[in-house]
Amino acid sequence: MEKRDYYEVLGVSKNADAAAIKKAYRKLALQYHPDKNPGDKEAEEKFKEAAEAYDVLSNEEKRRRYDQFGHAGMGSGAGGFGGGMSMDDIFSHFGDIFGSFGGFGGFGGGGRSARRVNRGTNLRVRVKMSLKEIATGIEKKIKVKKYVACEHCKGTGAKNGTSFSTCSTCGGSGQVTRVQNTILGAMQTTSTCPTCQGEGKIINDKCTYCNGEGVQMSEEVITINIPAGVADGMQLSLGGRGNAARRGGVNGDLIVMIEEEEHPDLLRDGNDLLYNVFVGYPEVVLGETVEIPTVDGKVKVKIEPGTQPGKILRLRGKGLPDVNGYGKGDLLAKVNVWIPKNLSKEDKKLVEKMKEGEGFHPGASDKKSFFSKVKDFFE
Ligand SMILES: [Zn+2]
Ligand SMILES: [Zn+2]
Repeated sequence: MEKRDYYEVLGVSKNADAAAIKKAYRKLALQYHPDKNPGDKEAEEKFKEAAEAYDVLSNEEKRRRYDQFGHAGMGSGAGGFGGGMSMDDIFSHFGDIFGSFGGFGGFGGGGRSARRVNRGTNLRVRVKMSLKEIATGIEKKIKVKKYVACEHCKGTGAKNGTSFSTCSTCGGSGQVTRVQNTILGAMQTTSTCPTCQGEGKIINDKCTYCNGEGVQMSEEVITINIPAGVADGMQLSLGGRGNAARRGGVNGDLIVMIEEEEHPDLLRDGNDLLYNVFVGYPEVVLGETVEIPTVDGKVKVKIEPGTQPGKILRLRGKGLPDVNGYGKGDLLAKVNVWIPKNLSKEDKKLVEKMKEGEGFHPGASDKKSFFSKVKDFFE
């Protein structure tokens, strides 16, 4: 299914501020909340869609990336949100948005949203790409050092992964609820459980390998699919591929930063590529076939007799593909006439001979003025 525009999903304008985005999301989240729409698959999808849109638009960096590159900038859905956010992800990320409502104490049924979930930090890597790789998109394998769940305690931080018990203060929900009588009637307040700090469980014996943290450093080879058309400085986000969180929380993201390698001949201008062709004077006068480099090998291009310096030859579709799939750029080759600096005696004689020929001077071969020809070049 085609992904809808995040602004459209939340029903806000492109320049909506953080408060407006939060408000719009809260409204949708309440409308499609699973507790209000039990068993309604469509409501669940809408609920998830809104959460995904909010996840991006509420984060300054992700929003900027989305504004620039659309859905393509958000990674190709390798896990995390692109691949569909689970209900637990949504509650652990945005649970607080429900908590700030009076009168909706019942939300997040069964303590699902109440338990605090640790979140791992994001991992950043740089990936160098040549124009050739950018033209096709590539699969890159990169080695990263990152925190993963401790294998000895399965990320729980408890010895053997079993030496913990449910917190007796909160019964495992991670929150404690107090009822106070006030002049307005009974008021219910909920706060993080002070005994377990919201984790819902107490470790009896710490895992000795990770000292109870539940994570260990590890080296991992990650395969990243980078779409065609990316540009220098662009960042792709792979949800859930970053560092593991302490004691079995949600993984951080892997942020891939694109670094473009300079091409020896071609210069990039958006999706177009620029190239300077240098041709000798006799060749532009008589016409010649020249070779022009592209990202996938050289192509032969005919220079018509009488081609003026500065003329742009447009090789359609020989540029780079658009990162959002809107076609391909062109390769623009500018014709330059190469002027020799040091001539042999023989060559000098040839040029002097040419100088005598009447047809070699501006305005001689046709009646157009030199200036009108200059104008022609820019048309
Ligand atoms: Zn451990
Ligand atoms: Zn507790």
